[in-house]
Formats: sequence, C-alpha cells, structure tokens
Amino acid sequence: MISKNKTKLLKEICDEVWNCTDSPLYAYRKENNYYPVLGEGSHDAYAIFVGEAPGKNEAQTGRPFCGRAGALLDELLLSISLPRENVYITNIVKDRPPENRDPTPEEIKFYAPFLDRQLSIIKPHVIVTLGRFSMEYIMTRYGLARRLGSIGAIHGELFIATLPYGKVLLMPMYHPAASIYNKGTKKYLEEDFKKLKKSLDELPKS
Ligand code: URA
Repeated sequence: MISKNKTKLLKEICDEVWNCTDSPLYAYRKENNYYPVLGEGSHDAYAIFVGEAPGKNEAQTGRPFCGRAGALLDELLLSISLPRENVYITNIVKDRPPENRDPTPEEIKFYAPFLDRQLSIIKPHVIVTLGRFSMEYIMTRYGLARRLGSIGAIHGELFIATLPYGKVLLMPMYHPAASIYNKGTKKYLEEDFKKLKKSLDELPKS
C-alpha cells in the first residue's frame, strides 16, 4: 500500500475518533478542551510503539508521548539511533482518562479496534508494547494469550504475533513512566532497547 493511501486511511480513523460522541471519554475530552491522540510518526514504520493512554500534555497537544515519559522514550530511541520520525508511536486508548487513572476494560474495548485498524494499515514488522495494558491487549488479540505473563517476567522477550497481514515480532517493555517513579525500571528499559536494536538489525530489510 502506498503511503498516500495509508495517510488517507489513518486520517479516516482520526476523524472517527474525533467525532465518536459515544466514547466513554468524549464528555471528559470536551469539558477540558482536550484533543484525542491518534499517533504520530512514519506511516511506513518498521516498528510501532504502543503505550497506554494520553496524559495531560498529550491531551493538550494531540501528540503522543510529549511529556516526561515521552522525553524518556526519546532518550531510549536516541540510545539505539532510531529516529522518532522513523517509527510510529500510539496508544491503546486514544483519549485521556481523568487524573491519569488506569484505563478501564470498557475504555480499552472501545478504543482497541482503532488500534487494530492502525496496525493493519501501517503493517509494522515489529510491535513494542509499553506497559501492561497494551501488552495484555496485543498478546491476547494476536495469538499469544498463552504466553502472557506479568510484565516483570516477560519484558524484553521476543514473541511472534499473528496479525491479519502476517507474522510480526513483538517485544513487551515496561512503560517509560514506570521508571520515573522507580529508577530500577530504567535499567530494564535500556537493556530491552539494546535487545530491540539487535532484533531490528537482524531483520531482513525489504
Ligand atoms: N503515557 C502513555 O501511555 N502514552 C502517552 O502518549 C503519554 C504517556
């Protein structure tokens, strides 16, 4: 699929989310003049990073990972010489939940089909989940339910997920925000990014 077509299809998803008044977070978005956050990056990205949900900075700008967790994500991408604009960055939930609380199962159920569509359009070869919500959703949805474990047990492992367009490498990682509150987690993220680089370097480039 050429990028122009991908851009059109991604824009359609964006328009739908903007206008979905039946979303569980629509009223909260409107009350606060927030934006939905669909994602940004290359529409031909080899690798896609899937976080949890926008925080306040993200909802105020409409851009994913642009606050403190985003600064750490940028640092980690830089550490493996992977330019942010070469990957795609998104979340499972597209609107900010109040007070940065965890997304509810109802919110995940509502927004996840938009993520599924984004994946099918971009067709990345590698998916990195950031945090347990995107890990649990993607592994359950794409044939890895039996391999699911706690994030502490399976972060940095490589799995093969089955997407509608083919096999995709999947690496669960801790959420960057976790390392803001727990410094020990940053070491795991740094190590996992090194593993990710190794896997990316080994993949045949088509
Ligand atoms: N945390 C997330 O999961 N996503 C963002 O976009 C920002 C913070």
